[in-house]
Amino acid sequence: MIHEILPVGPLECNCSIIADENTREAMVIDPGDDVADIQAILEKHGVRVKQIVITHAHIDHIGGAMKLRAATGAPILLNQNDHALLRLLGMQAEWLGMSTPEKVEIDHSITDADKVETGSLVANVMHTPGHTEGSICLYFPAEQKLIAGDTLFAGSIGRTDLPGGSFDKIIRSLHQKVLSLPDETIVVPGHGSLTTIGNERESNPFLQNR
Ligand SMILES: [Zn+2]
Repeated sequence: MIHEILPVGPLECNCSIIADENTREAMVIDPGDDVADIQAILEKHGVRVKQIVITHAHIDHIGGAMKLRAATGAPILLNQNDHALLRLLGMQAEWLGMSTPEKVEIDHSITDADKVETGSLVANVMHTPGHTEGSICLYFPAEQKLIAGDTLFAGSIGRTDLPGGSFDKIIRSLHQKVLSLPDETIVVPGHGSLTTIGNERESNPFLQNR
């Protein structure tokens, strides 16, 4: 598995470029910004984008998706429960002092039990509402790796005070779904440093005493 993590944009969203080294097929997760840099990584590895996967419809995660789709022809995948948030992208951009993004079109909705396949790599989609209604995580069982979006961070969890956020839901998603993964699972959060499920189970203050 080729896996490069590139912090993109002013909020340094962790964009993942994941590819099968044999078939040279790739998926790009959360191309929030800096599409030229993402394309340089794709070119460096000589891989072709098959899917653009968005963990949730916040502008720092989705801002570069249309540009990447135009450049690669790959479809954009997002859970349908975040479609309402797409209409608020202009407002999100204003809060962050960013320029108004172009309209984002979604090609497919993905949810629980769906798989995203790129070459021999398989990611199971986990619908984990809370940070937003349509937040998803992607779990690669063979590699024991979780792309967590803004649901789980090293030592913290996603904020729930933005439109569509719910503290009860994110806690439920974390306990019922995310913490059911093995301790060894490497977690790639939407921002900041990597962690493991074991670390977070043991020391994340939001995940204790439940
Ligand atoms: Zn977010």
